[in-house]
Amino acid sequence: MNQIIIIGAGLSGLVTAYELKKMGIPALVLEARSRYGGRIWTLKGEGRGTPLEMGATWFGDKHQHLIGLLLELGVRYFDQHSRGIALLESMSFAPAQRFELPESEEPYHRILGGSSTLVKALIGRIGEDNIRLGTPVEEIREQPGGLLITARGGKEYPCRFAVSTLPPGLLAKTVRFTPALPPEILGLMAQTHTWMSESVKFAVEYDKPFWREHGFAGTAYSQAGPATEIYDHTNFEETAFALKGFLSAGAAQLKEDDRREMVLRQLVKLFGLEAANYLSYIDWPWALEPFTHHNYNGYILPHQNSGHPAFSRPLMNGRLFLSGTETSPEFGGYMDGAVLSGLLAADRVALL
Ligand SMILES: Cc1cc2nc3c(=O)[nH]c(=O)nc-3n(C[C@H](O)[C@H](O)[C@H](O)COP(=O)(O)OP(=O)(O)OC[C@H]3O[C@@H](n4cnc5c(N)ncnc54)[C@H](O)[C@@H]3O)c2cc1C
Repeated sequence: MNQIIIIGAGLSGLVTAYELKKMGIPALVLEARSRYGGRIWTLKGEGRGTPLEMGATWFGDKHQHLIGLLLELGVRYFDQHSRGIALLESMSFAPAQRFELPESEEPYHRILGGSSTLVKALIGRIGEDNIRLGTPVEEIREQPGGLLITARGGKEYPCRFAVSTLPPGLLAKTVRFTPALPPEILGLMAQTHTWMSESVKFAVEYDKPFWREHGFAGTAYSQAGPATEIYDHTNFEETAFALKGFLSAGAAQLKEDDRREMVLRQLVKLFGLEAANYLSYIDWPWALEPFTHHNYNGYILPHQNSGHPAFSRPLMNGRLFLSGTETSPEFGGYMDGAVLSGLLAADRVALL
């Protein structure tokens, strides 16, 4: 029987596994996807291999749990480039307004090599042998002395304690509990927003930062769309260049070719003709990812029920602990919240 099973190899689950390993407590991580990292996912651009963030990207000095972890693991970070003229586009048929961004007192940071560098550093410490990829958990059942976790295909994993790091709404919708969880906690979980799960991120790679050469920061905000926010995404070494940002959530309904065409048209309008001369384009509609997003019963507010105190209480006779960024008492939804929830879950199960 496993002592502890952690469900999910996103940042939160990996932090718990890493902390338990440091304490000498064995734990097995079950991950549904065929990759690590969950909502952290850095791709290499097809043009120049530019690290392109499809998920989590930025953090600030206030995110001390994350920064502490980066320092401990020796993972370096650098400031987001924002010098130059920024743009505000309010109508598609009118030119964008230009403005200077104030020198930010609190710069936003990015991880060198991409956010997946942090995930790789954690995997290196935990050991791949302690993680099973391609193992979606379907049922958590109480049994004498612990829990029985069943994955797709029927493989069973008995354990004394389990930590779920699934966004609470996803857990309530996609995992069966035997016996059923109390309706109050199930209802609360189902009404908890999964941060950024409706986002569509895009990146366009270039062979040079032509926007910088014309005095632009690469930053643009738009109410005309389809891109609503755009930022410079040059790598730390300043050898690989890209613009990246968010598309309006409705863009997920379009075909990728149509999205690409619309984004390039907008970039040409904002930054000039050179924007059409790109090396590669990629975008990622997270709402199509079944191991991140689920549909809600009705309207839900951003961050709704994030960090609810009920998430800190174990379920199933004290055997099942809820973790993951949406359960974090601070910075729920963000990488920092994922780290904090991972640390708290490790401390809770280590005391048992
Ligand atoms: C587009 C986007 C942009 C973002 N930008 C930022 C940012 O700039 N800054 C910031 O701080 N945060 C950002 N975030 C949020 C950040 O990514 C999350 O806070 C953090 O990665 C969450 O980690 P987690 O481990 O709690 O959850 P997740 O990363 O969601 O991990 C949960 C894991 O559980 C797995 N799983 C799901 N179902 C099952 C199952 N049935 N069985 C087994 N495993 C399962 C999933 O595959 C996943 O690996 C962004 C997120 C997105 C999507």
